[in-house]
Parts: sequence; C-alpha cells; structure tokens
Amino acid sequence: MYEMLKKLNGVVSPTGQEEAGSKVVAEMIAPFVDEVRIDPIGNVIAHKKGNGKRVMFAAHIDCVGLMVTYIEDGGFIRFAPLGGPRPDTMNGARVQFFDGTIGIVCKDDAFTGSVTYDKLFIDIGAKDGDEVKQKLRIGDYATFDSPLYQLGQSRLVGPYMDDRLGIVTLIKAVSELKNCPNDLWFAFTVLEEVSSAGAKTAATQIDAEYGVAVDVIFCSDVPDAKKDGPRDIQLGKGPAIKYMDRLTISSPKVNRLLEAAAERKGIALQREAHNIGGSDSQEMQRALGGMYATTLSIPLRYMHTPAEMCEISDLEDTAAMLREFMETEIK
Ligand SMILES: [Zn+2]
Repeated sequence: MYEMLKKLNGVVSPTGQEEAGSKVVAEMIAPFVDEVRIDPIGNVIAHKKGNGKRVMFAAHIDCVGLMVTYIEDGGFIRFAPLGGPRPDTMNGARVQFFDGTIGIVCKDDAFTGSVTYDKLFIDIGAKDGDEVKQKLRIGDYATFDSPLYQLGQSRLVGPYMDDRLGIVTLIKAVSELKNCPNDLWFAFTVLEEVSSAGAKTAATQIDAEYGVAVDVIFCSDVPDAKKDGPRDIQLGKGPAIKYMDRLTISSPKVNRLLEAAAERKGIALQREAHNIGGSDSQEMQRALGGMYATTLSIPLRYMHTPAEMCEISDLEDTAAMLREFMETEIK
C-alpha cells in the first residue's frame, strides 16, 4: 500500500480537477478486476464479476486544493480553496500547480491575527504579475506538494491520506481475493470534498443493493482534544464503523455484516457516531431505489493539512476486513 500511496502523492488532483488522479487509479486497479472505465464526470468505475448481490464500494479520488482567483501586479497569487484546506495550517506550505510550477503559501509577516484565506497568498518567486501570467492564469489549480514518509515505527504522514487511504485499502483487498461470491463494483469518486456528486452519479450507474464508502475520520487522541466527543477515535485501534454523521444514519444491516467480518478475522473496531461531516455513503443511500449503505472510516490525525497522519496497522486491518467482507456471500 505504501508504494501506491507514494505514486499517488505526486499526482495533482484536487476536487473538481481529478483527471490525473482518475487515470492513475484506473491503472492501479485494472489488473485485479474484469472491467474498468472512467465515466464523464471522472469517476473510475471498476467491476469484479460475481453471481451474488451487487455491492458497491466507494473511495474518493479528489482532495483539497487551491484555485487561482487573482494575480497581483507584484507577482502574488490570490486563491480560493477547493474543498476545505485549513487556512490556519497553510502558511509556509509548499504547493504544486497542475503544470509543475512550485509555490509557497504565505502571509504578511506582521499579521498575527487569525489566518483566513483572504490573508494568504502564493509566492512562486516571480518578480511581478507579468512573470506569473506567463505560467499561470485565473482558474489554474494546485495541491500541497508535501512528501509522504514514515514517522516513527508505525505511522505514515502525507498531505492526502484523505482519501487515498480508502483507495489503497480497497485495491489491496480486491488484489488478494481468493473468491468472489458477490458482484463487486468499485467507484473511485470525484467531488466528495464539495458535494459527493461523483458518488451520486456512480451509485446511479451501478445501482447496487449494498454499499460501503471507505473514508477517514478525525482522531481525538491529541492534546486538548475533547475526549467526550463529538467523537472518540484513536490511531492504531482499528478502523471505525460509522453509525451516524451529520448527513447519514448508516444502514444497520451493512454495519452488522462489517462487524461480523471483523470478528471472524479478529480485528478490533472502533465506533463512530457524531453530528459532523459526511461521506460518499450519503449519496449512495439516496441513489435510485436506495441501497443499504454505510461508511468504514480509517483514523486520521490533522485532516486537510499538508501533514495528515495515519497508523499502518489501521490500513492493514481495514484491507483485511474488507477482503473478508468481499469474500463472504451476502444472503
Ligand atoms: Zn474524505
């Protein structure tokens, strides 16, 4: 999974501009499925044929990023966020534009108040606005250009664990399948960070009976985090089954199937219930006649910053329980 994450880390694929990401993900899953295609909105749809129930898995390709809104005469670039990168963590971040241009997110040194997007700008080392305009225009986009690396014995850090962890755990699971009693569909979706529009169109095409979105969840195991909620999630304690978030109440039926798969493999689970956020499962529940859908969440610290952190054992456990779930016929 580390090699796949490394490869994806070099891909500039912010929400709404996922073409490069879709291409790489389609290539990654192709050896392990019967069919793979990219739909008009940019979702990668992959099919692993089986005779049983139609089951859809989703993980989103898009990630948070920036879009150029204005180029100052002095050579500084104003931007709008794509999705929700956290402005308080962006000062000093290195970014890469779609054409390879590198820049740094900056603010006025004298400004010490709370950092909002309008206090930030990007410096690409240009002497003036004309030099910037030779390379970039309004509407061009960038993502964090931060390395992916191991930290300590068992943790990985990188800018886009959300939701590349979902992508690589699903691909690992399908790559190791020994049998396929259910009819499996994989949607690597676009636009999750802003609307889950990709999940909606993918779910409509696939029309499955069961659905699992694999995404990430904030941790509460850092200093000053409220331990009494809205969540109680820790790194290294296993994937979390989602029971509720702001936009969905998960299907008890699918949750029971996931819990049973984890129990058969001896994998510890965490429980996630709160009233913030959402995931692709909200659109999966609503598509066509609806499907029994839930979210399996991988614990993540420092979400939507250039340095998101996860625990390797959580990835391994997530992939192993997904494989067990896939290999068990749904009656
Ligand atoms: Zn996500």
